[in-house]
Amino acid sequence: MAKTDHAGKELLFSFQNRWQEADEPRRREIMDFSEGYKIALNAGKTEREFVDFSVAALEEAGFVPLDSKVKLKPGDKVYANVRKRGLIAAVIGSADPVEGFNLIGSHIDSPRLDLKPNPLYEKADLALFKTHYYGGIKKYQWAAIPLSLHGVLHKADGTVVQICIGEDANDPVFCVTDLLPHLGKQQMERKPEEIIKGEELNILIGGIPFPDKEVENSFKLGVLQILNDKYQIVEKDFITAEIQAVPAYSARDVGLDRSFVGGYGQDDRVSAYTALKAIIDMKAANRTALMILYDKEEVGSMGNTGAESDLYFSAQNEIFAKQVDHEPGFREYRMNLANSFVLSSDVTNAYDPTFEFVSDAQNSSYAGRGIAFSKYVGVRGKGSTSDASSEYYSAVIRLMDEHKIAWQAGEMGMVDEGGGGTVAMLQAAKGMEVIDCGVPVLSMHSCFEVTSKLDVFETYRANKVFLEHMK
Ligand code: MN
Ligand code: MN
Repeated sequence: MAKTDHAGKELLFSFQNRWQEADEPRRREIMDFSEGYKIALNAGKTEREFVDFSVAALEEAGFVPLDSKVKLKPGDKVYANVRKRGLIAAVIGSADPVEGFNLIGSHIDSPRLDLKPNPLYEKADLALFKTHYYGGIKKYQWAAIPLSLHGVLHKADGTVVQICIGEDANDPVFCVTDLLPHLGKQQMERKPEEIIKGEELNILIGGIPFPDKEVENSFKLGVLQILNDKYQIVEKDFITAEIQAVPAYSARDVGLDRSFVGGYGQDDRVSAYTALKAIIDMKAANRTALMILYDKEEVGSMGNTGAESDLYFSAQNEIFAKQVDHEPGFREYRMNLANSFVLSSDVTNAYDPTFEFVSDAQNSSYAGRGIAFSKYVGVRGKGSTSDASSEYYSAVIRLMDEHKIAWQAGEMGMVDEGGGGTVAMLQAAKGMEVIDCGVPVLSMHSCFEVTSKLDVFETYRANKVFLEHMK
């Protein structure tokens, strides 16, 4: 028999639920943090609203526009707005910037129903909006729930009109209608993804006709009259508008013990909020800290506000160049990137015992076990992902352990079941070291996503530790 100097148990490892070790003061911190998080979810239901919310919070904390600074020195706090739908913020560190930055990236767009460019129509005495859904949704989930309308229109004279209808308790709400079960036989024989079809995601918007009995399209006109009275807009203004329908209800506590937050858009505003709070609360550090909030992740990260946009990358370069006292050369830019560390912060699936057939139990993330790291994400054979290096991943984990952060590791689901992508591979393509991490979510991409308050708080702590101490 081999001689051992351990009891055997020390060789084994498994992740545990972390609520029991959270003492009363820690539980109060967790609960308090979730109050601010729910406020952010309610205030920022679109990427534009979340940028506005974040800029206000950053300015209150002393961050100033990047454009207002010719040079950056240690302790400076700056931000740059990326076309009102993305955001980059930085706290300048004291080290030579060539030694690299610590960056947390997340996204602030969420699945929703966008109005079509020519949305308004009437049929059978009802006025309705046609929609084109955005991102990956189960379409049937969007029928028969209260919806609010958020967005911007630009009038003929160029002035902007911001709308937000359905969030105030006194506002009306809107909805996609569904068929009654009594007449649902044909509908229920459809393929599941067609229970509600894309062209059936029509939003009920009005039902009182324009008073003039002679006029055509009187139900459409009834709606346009109200919109014109309130916002001085006309039908043509919808063509160029960005208007989004999202669930109208507020984020709420879930569970008798209030251990969860339920609400719309937690993918990925839970990452965005915890990153925003971390960069606001952090002490200026050795390395420069960056936070980026991207748009368009849910549709592939393209466009001038998605993570592929050079606007983010060039702002990062500008933050680098403004820290050095000479015109930086290619090598210095390259070394800055090669030495930079990234947390690609995006939600993952929380193991759901009701649907355990999609998950490998010992390689899944669980609600209540802390921030979840994923060495890679991707689909079917690690397609479209960044596979973090063991060197970097283990260094991040050592930092988490050193600061007693509750963390866990998991994959999204079983190998052949599907998967998902994040912005990690786009950040990695620039040469930075990147690891995926985020909060596990139950009912992800639904109209009522659920997260554990413990995981939300631990993600905030992990972000702060990473920005302050990763090196
Ligand atoms: Mn996401
Ligand atoms: Mn998503």
